Amino acid sequence: MTPPDTAAADCAFMDEALKEARSAAEAGEVPVGAVAVWEGRIIARARNRVEEALDATCHAEMELLRRCAAERGDWRMEDVDVFVTKEPCAMCAGAMVNARVRRVVYGVPDPRSGACGSALNITGFPGMLWQVEAAGGVRESEARTILQDFFRQVRARSKTRTLPAPPIDETREKDS
Ligand SMILES: [Zn+2]
Repeated sequence: MTPPDTAAADCAFMDEALKEARSAAEAGEVPVGAVAVWEGRIIARARNRVEEALDATCHAEMELLRRCAAERGDWRMEDVDVFVTKEPCAMCAGAMVNARVRRVVYGVPDPRSGACGSALNITGFPGMLWQVEAAGGVRESEARTILQDFFRQVRARSKTRTLPAPPIDETREKDS
């Protein structure tokens, strides 16, 4: 069990990641947000910006690792914890292993493509050079609601169009 003090801090940091997820939704991006914590304080924040950047690698976690490295002048994150609203995908979990992130805490698990133990276990794969401690389910219902609301709106918008909806609306839910 996570000690009560740690659990309370995890919820507070996840609340900040949820703010980033809401800001992604407002920008029309799949709402995933993340913050990086070092020595008890947030040193970087990021949200998904795949659409804005036209870059499939611009998931919230990838953006976060880049900002965190720039902030600290070091790509190694052995004493950095990442809080992200949805379970990281294979790309982001792999990047966290390479960056040697100490711990990742996520909100809603992703049974289809989550790579912190749900579909794959990249963060805890024994053959990797580094293992990232992973914990999920923090502020899970809030994180899930933000995603569900976003996709409900996307579907509603596509129904009100007179022209057929572009294929992106049908495939977006597959993105993270
Ligand atoms: Zn990802």
